[in-house]
Amino acid sequence: MLRQIDLVDKILAYNPQADEALLNRAYVYAMAKHGEQRRASGDPYISHPIEVAGILADMHLDEATIAVALLHDTIEDTDATREDIAAKFGEDISELVDALTKLKKLDLVTKRAQQAENLRRFLLATAKDIRVLLVKLADRLHNMRTLDHVPPDKRKRIAEETMELYAPLAGRMGMQDLREELEDLCFQHINPSAYATVTARLRDINEKNRYLLGTIETALMDLLAQNGVSATVSSRQKKPWSVFKKMETKGISFDSLPDLFGLRVLVESVSDCYRALGVIHQAWAFIPGRFKDYVSTPKQNDYQSLHTTVFGPSRQRIELQIRTRAMHRVAELGIAAHTLYKDGQARLGRGKVEETRAYAWLRQTIDELAKGDSAEDFLEHTKLELFQDQVFAFTPKGKIIALPRGATPIDFAYAVHTDVGDHCVGAKINGRPMPLVTQLRNGDEVAIVTSDKQLTPPSAWQQVAVTGKARSAIRRATRLAMRKQYGGIGQRILSTAFARAGKEFSPERLVEVAHRLGRKEAPDIIAAVGRGEIASGDVLKAVHPDLAPAKPVKSAEAPPKEEGWFNLRSAAGMVFKLPTLGRTRKENKVGPAVPIRGAAANLAVNFSPEGAVPGDRIVGILQPGKGIVIYPIHSPALAAFDDEPDRWVDVRWETEDQPDARYPARISVTAINVPGSLAAIATKVAQHDANIDTLTMRSTAADFTEMEVNVQVRDVRQLNGLVADLKTLDCVSAADRALG
Ligand code: MN
Repeated sequence: MLRQIDLVDKILAYNPQADEALLNRAYVYAMAKHGEQRRASGDPYISHPIEVAGILADMHLDEATIAVALLHDTIEDTDATREDIAAKFGEDISELVDALTKLKKLDLVTKRAQQAENLRRFLLATAKDIRVLLVKLADRLHNMRTLDHVPPDKRKRIAEETMELYAPLAGRMGMQDLREELEDLCFQHINPSAYATVTARLRDINEKNRYLLGTIETALMDLLAQNGVSATVSSRQKKPWSVFKKMETKGISFDSLPDLFGLRVLVESVSDCYRALGVIHQAWAFIPGRFKDYVSTPKQNDYQSLHTTVFGPSRQRIELQIRTRAMHRVAELGIAAHTLYKDGQARLGRGKVEETRAYAWLRQTIDELAKGDSAEDFLEHTKLELFQDQVFAFTPKGKIIALPRGATPIDFAYAVHTDVGDHCVGAKINGRPMPLVTQLRNGDEVAIVTSDKQLTPPSAWQQVAVTGKARSAIRRATRLAMRKQYGGIGQRILSTAFARAGKEFSPERLVEVAHRLGRKEAPDIIAAVGRGEIASGDVLKAVHPDLAPAKPVKSAEAPPKEEGWFNLRSAAGMVFKLPTLGRTRKENKVGPAVPIRGAAANLAVNFSPEGAVPGDRIVGILQPGKGIVIYPIHSPALAAFDDEPDRWVDVRWETEDQPDARYPARISVTAINVPGSLAAIATKVAQHDANIDTLTMRSTAADFTEMEVNVQVRDVRQLNGLVADLKTLDCVSAADRALG
């Protein structure tokens, strides 16, 4: 516990002319008033105001603020009155203590209308004198530091309130240190197991990288010194909450977070910032898109720094912040940095505070407040500003749900409860039924419509949801549903495939190869085979690598059903055959329903081998025995008919009455031979709602496979989208539409 004498020493160290008598009087008064009161921890109550004062002393605040901190709980918790404090400490201090007392009575996580009103009063009170906000934040910080002693249910509520309001508010005021500490403390109480995992992993990483980091620091310091820039270099530790948030919002695992080194370079002057930057960029390669100049254009909360990412001496990615010491102070303390004791005046530098952007924001928010007449309008305004990357929505009962920007009712449903998400079939936003893909806005009231008939959320929701919670729940539910739906057929296919190879199929053997096939567990592999995402041959090969390699599948009118490509075909929903190839989609009419205008009704219409899809400019070629064959106009194959103009027929698409029809096209893909590449390609095709008709593979080099994929798509847009997306796969080195 901090002692009064230590506190006073701390203050005298940065403010030698501080009013020591005032500090001592405030301490003695608070001590006498709180008397025998104890905190939940069993400590004497006075330890709390002293620690709060200590936090503010660390920010180098003036002694009036420190005195307010010492007195901040006296009116609320003891028989002290505002008048009494005014008589002993003056009107200024008593007003601040009174404001803090009123704040304490505001319940900030309550029903919407009330919450808005409370938040409004809160900001009004804090904006009147920024010291109220500073003491309030320090008060909250100390309460969070000692939260362990509070009963669990109360603990969580306080942590949530802090995470939703105080931490972002501290951030908005530029007080990054305080924000980060609050966030990590909240994280610890809101999600203890995740916190424990992340901190343990961070410790491991720091341990592992300590030596390397030291080397980089030295190299950087030498580099700057050699070029005449005097600077101090220090490393930045990743904070558990920010790491976790990144994992959650990006839906990635801890291991796939880039192993970044963060270094900070502190220099004397603005020109040194740019000189240091120049020296570093000249010596080490930098990533062009990553450079940001917040020195010439400060952030809204007054933050200033140069940011750049470079490749260090042994090619590690290093994130650098370059700033002056003064900028550093603002970066850490934000608005509190401007209240610095200055020029021997033991007064709060209020003129300076008012010049800051952060304070301007607060003032502006208050102005909005004066204009807006409803508390809810205000909430809309303020929160929009305050929580720029968050959206706050409400349940019909008024519970607030904080979501990342871009969140949908699906995310909302999962945030309420996994069951609500799984059974969600619709949503009413502010009383009106709205699509589940609607992006929520601040203040929306969301009622989720559930149905017991929906057992599994549609897998497509994975693309719609933005929260990690919703995504992982949907993924899991989808996986389980897949197992159920395709497990039987997968089992059959595998049993047959294994029997043909003279092997017995047993799911247990799949466990050890699951990883190689890109699946988590054996039932997932079986379902993937049933769904055609993995070929039975690949599974056979994985379990019995000694077997002769399976024959590549040839494009054929009727591939053997047991082979992998039967699966792919069924996977793609290959229940129909193209009318153009003399086959008919089952659910479509047989016969002249070919959507080409210009073709005589009695002539058969076929597509060229490379296919053609709506959106392509097309031409028909009369061919004996085949009727009119449709080619994309840019097909090189058309050159063969150049000398026979009589055979050319003008045709155009007429597809309006057949919105569900599919048309053939061919894609050539060069894939890298890695396990699961075929499945990845098939999955992409399925994700684009395209069907695979046939797939031919040819090994061109040891590590590459050329594939010719005949697909069925609605139109050229869908086809282009698919081709573009295939290129993004790690296992694909080239993908293009094949013509001619
Ligand atoms: Mn307190």
